[in-house]
Amino acid sequence: MSRAELDALIAEVQSAGIEVLVNRPLSNLTTYAVGGTAAATVTVSALEDLQALAAVTARYQNVPVHVVGRGSNTLISDDGVDGLVVFVSAPANEAVIELHGDDVVVAGSVTMPVLARRTVKAGRGGLEWCVGIPGSVGGAVRMNAGGHGAEMVDSLQSALVVSLRSGRCTTVSTEQLGLHFRGSALASHHIVAAAKLATTSCEVSDGQKELDAVVAWRREHQPGGRNAGSVFVNPAPGAGSAGALIDSCQLREFQLGAARVSEKHANFIQASDGATASDIVAVMSHVQDTVLKQHGVLLRSEVCLLGFDEEVMGRFADPRHTDPDRVNASHGLALLMGDVSE
Ligand SMILES: Cc1cc2nc3c(=O)[nH]c(=O)nc-3n(C[C@H](O)[C@H](O)[C@H](O)COP(=O)(O)OP(=O)(O)OC[C@H]3O[C@@H](n4cnc5c(N)ncnc54)[C@H](O)[C@@H]3O)c2cc1C
Repeated sequence: MSRAELDALIAEVQSAGIEVLVNRPLSNLTTYAVGGTAAATVTVSALEDLQALAAVTARYQNVPVHVVGRGSNTLISDDGVDGLVVFVSAPANEAVIELHGDDVVVAGSVTMPVLARRTVKAGRGGLEWCVGIPGSVGGAVRMNAGGHGAEMVDSLQSALVVSLRSGRCTTVSTEQLGLHFRGSALASHHIVAAAKLATTSCEVSDGQKELDAVVAWRREHQPGGRNAGSVFVNPAPGAGSAGALIDSCQLREFQLGAARVSEKHANFIQASDGATASDIVAVMSHVQDTVLKQHGVLLRSEVCLLGFDEEVMGRFADPRHTDPDRVNASHGLALLMGDVSE
């Protein structure tokens, strides 16, 4: 990407009526609250804005684009991020949630706790677990977020997806989205503008009790403060959970710089005042090395890394994204979205 291309893209996005912030510090936009600046950022949530933006970005194939929701599963490098970072978020009072019979249609920018609480209030159940996930619905679809015995794939019917590469906006079925454990076939240039989820009928009081139970469980078992939830993906079935492996290496409270393994949950890394992304990566690296040495298991990151060099990305990326099933699903979705031709 040349500077001239980025400048031309910025000018076109501004002409489309969308505000662009240049060299914006990103540290207060993720839950880790670390990281450098982005060359250019936009914040969008309305479908018309997403489509207008995609119509522009589709003409600038060389400019890298990255999508961030609530940043609760993202670690941004201290060196910042090249290209355009698109934040998909909306204030809670603008949450777009509609009930259509048993289905709920929700904007990708809405947060999971708002989705959980609103559906229960409307007497719809099945999404109570979402109250424990501090991310957006779009991020949860992309990650196939889950907890308390449920995950997005269980309820998701379809998603409205916008491609920043082709400019296309289309409804994609759950099968076509290729959801798997903590991931999907969605690429970094795809934006989930809305999701349709199945619900069941519930008594509001029962749903409320379930919400309270999920919140209480989270408070008891997970740390607060600056973190991105579980850092490492559970290895293959039978190899133990990532948290249990880390725990057995006595790594709770292991600290480098201002980042440390949580004392409450071994698969969480906490950042404190003065922490940098490098501190967090250093702790991740030590944990990965130690578990490999003691158990022969190579842990990979569940957290999305943004702006890091190839060495760091290669060290933590889940190699399962090259599995034939996943490659086929990604290719199928790219075809559907018009990102590639046969
Ligand atoms: C305290 C804590 C507890 C957590 N517990 C859980 C848990 O129990 N289970 C679990 O699964 N996760 C958990 N997480 C991780 C995180 O909340 C989820 O992965 C969440 O779904 C991420 O949503 P987000 O909007 O924050 O995504 P981001 O961090 O902003 O982005 C994550 C990924 O999603 C993509 N993305 C974001 N928005 C969109 C969009 N609109 N369209 C397309 N792609 C998008 C990004 O490009 C990136 O690849 C936890 C995090 C924290 C901090």
